Formats: sequence, structure tokens, C-alpha cells
Amino acid sequence: MGAKTKEQLRQHNIKAKKRLGQNFLLDKRILARLADAAELSKSDIVLEIGPGSGNLTVELAQRSGAVIAVEADQELEPVLTANLAEFNNVQLIWGDFLEQDLDTLWQLAPSESVRQRKVVANLPYYITSPVLVKLLTAGQPPNLAVILVQLEVAQRLVAKPGTKDYGSLSVLTQFYACPELVLKVPPAAFFPRPKVWSAAVRLKFRDQPAVDVGDKDFFFQVVRASFGHRRKTLANSLQHDLGDRLTKQDITASLIRAGIDPMRRGETLSLKEFAKLTTALTEQQR
Ligand code: SAM
Repeated sequence: MGAKTKEQLRQHNIKAKKRLGQNFLLDKRILARLADAAELSKSDIVLEIGPGSGNLTVELAQRSGAVIAVEADQELEPVLTANLAEFNNVQLIWGDFLEQDLDTLWQLAPSESVRQRKVVANLPYYITSPVLVKLLTAGQPPNLAVILVQLEVAQRLVAKPGTKDYGSLSVLTQFYACPELVLKVPPAAFFPRPKVWSAAVRLKFRDQPAVDVGDKDFFFQVVRASFGHRRKTLANSLQHDLGDRLTKQDITASLIRAGIDPMRRGETLSLKEFAKLTTALTEQQR
């Protein structure tokens, strides 16, 4: 498959575009393992972000009921349509995934027998964060996603409190989903080769957020403020960002009420503790 893709790109005089994060995954075994991780069945509808030359799309089309694939680079059309010619369950959408309405995309697939909505993608790395935010906070999120991202990002998504990788993105991800690192992928699996290792992360989306927080916007504001100043204590970080709404005394009182030592660092708090803190800060403002 690898040689075929390279030959097709050469035939059509297509050069991989760095600005679109084009690193085509050519290793057949890894493509299969991504599809395995998504536990696909014929009743699933799969959304693929950036099908590229269609290597992964073929795996998804063989194993699922319907595939909706959104690709920004229309120059790839001759290669992609040739590789998908034998499948009648794939719909290609040309455009920027970030500009698409997710609910509308899901509706493109026939709904009769669809049980699960899934996302499987070798993501263009330059838009990893906005894609994740879009999926996690969607009105109709997928039930499950398997995404290939930079290893360093994968480690942030699954990071536990108190570790160096734990940050706002970890909290956002774990609030809406249960993430799991399923596979590390070396640069040699791609063409052209990226500089860094990649990893596949499986996200099982929760029916309800992991913790009850009331106002989600305020919760994430508290989370961002807590991580914003890694060398400050929690009380000082929060005062720095929320000082226009709450006094230092209010903040300290809320921390104590939530059972959190004001001298701790933000990056040591669990989701439960962030939720307790948000509730205490909300009550303190009343
Ligand atoms: N799925 C293919 C594979 O595994 O070989 C290609 C993966 S490549 C890392 C990322 C793909 O996303 C490229 O085909 C690129 O053109 C496409 N892409 C980049 N930005 C995009 C965007 N905003 N919306 C949709 N597709 C995008």
C-alpha cells in the first residue's frame, strides 16, 4: 500500500503539504490497528477528519456501515476517489472540518441501523486542539473516537494530576471522555516522515460529564486560572485571574471550604477537587 500511495501522488504530481499537516500513514498493520481500536461494526457511522489518499478510509469503509470523510485539500480528489471507487458507503466532503456543523455531518449517513457514532482519524497535527474541543463540547458528540496525535499531546490527554503533562487539555478531555493511549507509532510509519513519534488515543465519551460543576464556563475558567501560573500557589494563581470578581480572602475561604490547601499548586488538583472548588467559589460570590 505504501508504494502504491507514493506512486499515485507522483503520477498526479502531488507533493505532501506541510501547512495541511500531510503525513500519510502507510503502514498497513498500524492502519488496521487504528480500525481495531475503534471496535467497528456495520451499524457504526464513522467520521474521518482528513482522509488524505484514503489509506485509512478503506479500512473504515470495509468495517463500518457508513463513512463521512472531510478533506480540506481538493488536489487529492483523483487519488482519493480512485482508492474509494469500490465502496458505496463513503461520502466525501471537501472543506475545512473546523467549519463544518457536526450534527449535519452525522445526518449525512442513513440512520436506520446506526447505533454508534465514531470518529477515526490520523489528525493534521496543527489543528489537534481545536478538533478535540469541537468533538468534546459538541451537542451530539461521538460515542467513541480513535485519533492519532503527536505522542506528546497523547500524553497530555491521558495525564493524571501531579504529573508534568497534566494541564487544562487533560481536564477538558477527562471531563467529557475516558481517554486511553492505545498505540505508539514511529515516524517511519508515515510519508513524509514527521520529526516526532505519534500515538493513537481512544476516547470513550461519557454520557454525563465526569463531575457536576454547575456553570461549565466558570469551571473551565477556574481550571485555566489554576494552570496559568505554574510557579504560583493555587490561591495566588486564582487571585491573578479572578481577582476582579473575588478577593484573596474569598478565594482562600473557598479553597478551605473545598478542603484544598491554598498552598498547593493547581496542577495537583483532581477533577473532583476542581469541581468542589468551582462550587465553593460560586457560593462565595452570592
Ligand atoms: N488519513 C490520511 C492518512 O492517514 O494517511 C491522511 C492524514 S494527514 C496526517 C491529515 C489530512 O488532513 C491531510 O489529508 C490534510 O489535507 C487533511 N486536513 C488538513 N487540514 C484539514 C482541515 N482543516 N479539515 C479537513 N482536513 C484537513
